[in-house]
Amino acid sequence: MKIHEYQAKELLAAAGAAIPKGIVVSSPKEAVAAFDTLGGGPVVLKAQVHAGGRGKGAFKGSGFPSGSEKGGLGGVKFIPKREDVEKIAEIMFKFPLVTKQTGSEGQKVSKVLVQAAADIDREIYVGMVLDRALGVPILMACAEGGVDIEEVAAKTPEKIIKVPIAPETGLQPFQARRLAFELGFTGQQIAQAEKIMVALSKVFLDKDCSLAEINPLVTTKPTKTMHSQGDVGAPKETTVPGDVVALDAKITFDESALFRHPDCEALRDLAEENPAEIRAAKAGLNFIQLSGNIGCLVNGAGLAMGTMDIIKYHGGDPANFLDVGGGVTPEGAIEAFRIILSDPNVKGVLVNIFGGIASCALIAEALVKAGREVGFKVPVVVRLEGNQVEKAREILNAAKKELPMMQVAPGLTEAAKMVVAAAR
Ligand code: ADP
Ligand code: MG
Repeated sequence: MKIHEYQAKELLAAAGAAIPKGIVVSSPKEAVAAFDTLGGGPVVLKAQVHAGGRGKGAFKGSGFPSGSEKGGLGGVKFIPKREDVEKIAEIMFKFPLVTKQTGSEGQKVSKVLVQAAADIDREIYVGMVLDRALGVPILMACAEGGVDIEEVAAKTPEKIIKVPIAPETGLQPFQARRLAFELGFTGQQIAQAEKIMVALSKVFLDKDCSLAEINPLVTTKPTKTMHSQGDVGAPKETTVPGDVVALDAKITFDESALFRHPDCEALRDLAEENPAEIRAAKAGLNFIQLSGNIGCLVNGAGLAMGTMDIIKYHGGDPANFLDVGGGVTPEGAIEAFRIILSDPNVKGVLVNIFGGIASCALIAEALVKAGREVGFKVPVVVRLEGNQVEKAREILNAAKKELPMMQVAPGLTEAAKMVVAAAR
C-alpha cells in the first residue's frame, strides 16, 4: 500500500528526521494562504499522487511542457512569487499529472503540498528495501541522488552503496556514521544525516514497509559568516556547512502486515488506487490490473503467472493478473467476471482452472452461472483440468448454445492460441 509524500515525511519526522515546513492544500486559494503562512518566501508546489518522477512529469492537456525548467511544469514546481501560486496550483488541480510511473492517462491531483523551498547544495539518495538475495533489509545510498537516480543506478551501479541491516537492531550508529562519511557529509551534517538515516531504518522496520526512501536528501548551501578577531586582526570569514533535510520521501507498506498497523491503514487514499483492484480486494480476489486485452481468471497464483506467460508466449497481452483462490464459488466467479469484463480493453478472457481439491464440475457450474448472470460479450476460452474434468466438460458443452461466446479448449496451449486469436 502506497501513501503520499507528505504522509511519508510526517512518519519520518515523528521518528526524528528533519523535513522542510509544508502545508497540504486542496484548492488554489488554500495554496496562496499556505504561501503566506510559510512566511511568504519562495515555495515549491508539489502535486501529491502515488507515483514518483513528478519533477520530470507533465500536466496532460495543460499545454505546458514537462519538467520544471524553461517554462515547463512538472508535478514539482519552484515558485518564488506570491502572484504565481494561484495560477500554477489551478493547473495542478485541473489536469492529470503524467509521470513515468502513472501510465499515459495520468493521475488526478486532489492535494498539493506547499513546501518551503530549500536552497539546495547537494542531492543524495537513501532508501530502505528488502534484499531478497541476502534475506535482510538493506539501506541503499548514493551521493548522486535526485531525479536522475534511476540513470545513475543503471549506468554506474558501483556508485550505489548497500548496507545490510539486522532487523532486530535496525541501522546501528556505527553504520550510520560510516555512511555519513562515505556520502561526503561534513561538520554538523554528520550527526544530522545519521539521525535521518536512523529514522528511515526505524520507520521501515517498525511499520513493516516494503520500501522507504528519501530522494533527495539534501544539504542546503553553506553560509559564510564574518568573525571578529578582537583587537588583534582583521575580521575572519568562516564557512558553515548547510543543513541536511529530507525533501522528498516515498513509503510503501507490506499489505500482508497492515493488520498490525491500523495507524498506517488510516493513511490509505482510495482515490489513488485502481477501482477494479479495490473491488476485487473486497471480494477476496487477488487481482492486479495490467494494460493488455486478454482477461485472465485462474485459480492459484503460480498458475496465474504461468497463464500470463503462455499468453505472452503466443503473442497476446494479459489485461490482469487474477488468482481466484483454491475454492472457487459461483459468487466469486461472477464477481471476477464482472471485474474483468468492466475493463473496456478486454477483448477475450482465458479461464484456466486446475481442479485439485476443488472439483472441475463445481467450477464448470459456477462458470455457466456466471455466464448467465454477467453475459459474455467477448470470447471466453475455458481450459479445465483435473478432478472430475469429464463431468465438467459435459456441463460446459451442454451450455454451449446458451453461451455462444464460450469456447472449451482441449489443453492449455490450445487455449492460449484460441484466446490470442479471438482477441485479435
Ligand atoms: P519526484 O521524486 O516525484 O520527482 P521530488 O520531491 O523529489 O519529486 O522533487 C523533484 C526535485 O525537485 C528534487 O530532486 C529537488 O531538486 C526539487 N525539490 C523538491 N522539493 C524541493 C524543495 N522543497 N525546495 C527546493 N527544491 C525542491
Ligand atoms: Mg524524489
